[in-house]
Amino acid sequence: MTNSVTGAAIDGWLRAFARLVAEHEDELTRLDAAIGDADHGANMNRGLTAAAVALDELAAGDPPPAAGPRLTKVGMTLISTVGGAAGPLFGTFFLRMGNALAEQETPTALAAALRAGLAGVVQRGKAEAGDKTMYDALAPAVAAVETALAAGGSLADALAAASKAAEDGCAATVPLVARKGRASYLGERSVGHQDPGATTVSLFFRAALDSGVAG
Ligand code: ADP
Ligand code: MG
Repeated sequence: MTNSVTGAAIDGWLRAFARLVAEHEDELTRLDAAIGDADHGANMNRGLTAAAVALDELAAGDPPPAAGPRLTKVGMTLISTVGGAAGPLFGTFFLRMGNALAEQETPTALAAALRAGLAGVVQRGKAEAGDKTMYDALAPAVAAVETALAAGGSLADALAAASKAAEDGCAATVPLVARKGRASYLGERSVGHQDPGATTVSLFFRAALDSGVAG
């Protein structure tokens, strides 16, 4: 088990995320069909497929890049290949996360980078807790990483806590009325459906557990 956020570990995490989104594309599309325009699965799968190609190019570098630049590259790729709300929002998340992490490899630096990514999402989308967006899974996951590390937990502990928090936050979007994005046009009719973007966030943290980053 490793407690370092190496370039290879982030590469594995991002690729595991891309695989999970590909596997869940239909589910994400179905969720977006209920409260949006049925494109979230295709949007994220297209962006992450392009991101995997960008990761291949980076991995071939000599020396191979650290974690931060890989995240930044994925963020830029999502912004340039995905339309709609979620592409730029997830893109900003990874871009800010990568810029904050840079060459650092410690779990604490990862926590700070996740916090910077979340701040970018908020700056761009202006979502608050309970608006029924990706924020409702991401904010508790970031807080869970910080809490676990502050309590002396390992990187694996922190990411396991984040995955649980993201899944809980995602499930908690079901009874909410959407107040941001396309789903907000439905008002009360958005109640009873899980937010697609929050679901993608939970896949991102589940991917950490499936990949090398959590040991
Ligand atoms: P679009 O809504 O443009 O079709 P997607 O379907 O790909 O884009 O993504 C929809 C997801 O984007 C929502 O489920 C929600 O989680 C997220 N989202 C939309 N607007 C915002 C916002 N202002 N802040 C945070 N997340 C948002
Ligand atoms: Mg959509």
